[in-house]
Parts: sequence; C-alpha cells; structure tokens
Amino acid sequence: MTCEELLRLINELVDGELDLNLAECQEFAEHLAKCNPCQVVVDNIRQTIQLYRAGEPFPLPREFQARLLASLRRRWQERFARESESSSQASGS
Ligand SMILES: [Zn+2]
Repeated sequence: MTCEELLRLINELVDGELDLNLAECQEFAEHLAKCNPCQVVVDNIRQTIQLYRAGEPFPLPREFQARLLASLRRRWQERFARESESSSQASGS
C-alpha cells in the first residue's frame, strides 16, 4: 500500500463509507507501521472521528479536510523528494 492509497482509504473513512476497524486491514497496518507521516494523519483523523462518534456535533468540514490533506501531501512530497534525490545521487555512478 502506498501513501496515496492510504490517503484514499482515509478519505472514504472520513466520508463514512468505511468502518473504523482499520486495524483489521493488514496492508493498512503494515504501511502505518513504517510510515510516520501516515501515523500522524491516522492519529488525527481517529481523534476527530472519536469526537464525532462521542456525539459531538462535529461534522468534519470539507475545507478542513482539504487543508489537512493538502498539508500532509506537501509534507510527504518533501520527504519523498528528499529520498529520491539521495537515491538518484547514490545511483549516479
Ligand atoms: Zn505513508
């Protein structure tokens, strides 16, 4: 599973199309175990959803969702851009 796929899964989760039992999803758990940015976003989303399920009138605003995903996407891109830079240097010779 890639970050993109995980992000899509989270999107569906936020939209209420998926259940919260993500721990049952092997691929999801495996990706999370080794991807720190995704751990952070899942943690945030989970807290938000728990608030929501606790009965708080707390619909996740589209705008907030978009902003959150955009900022995470930027962070991932920075991270992966750096990784691909260093790997292309390594394979330069
Ligand atoms: Zn990831």
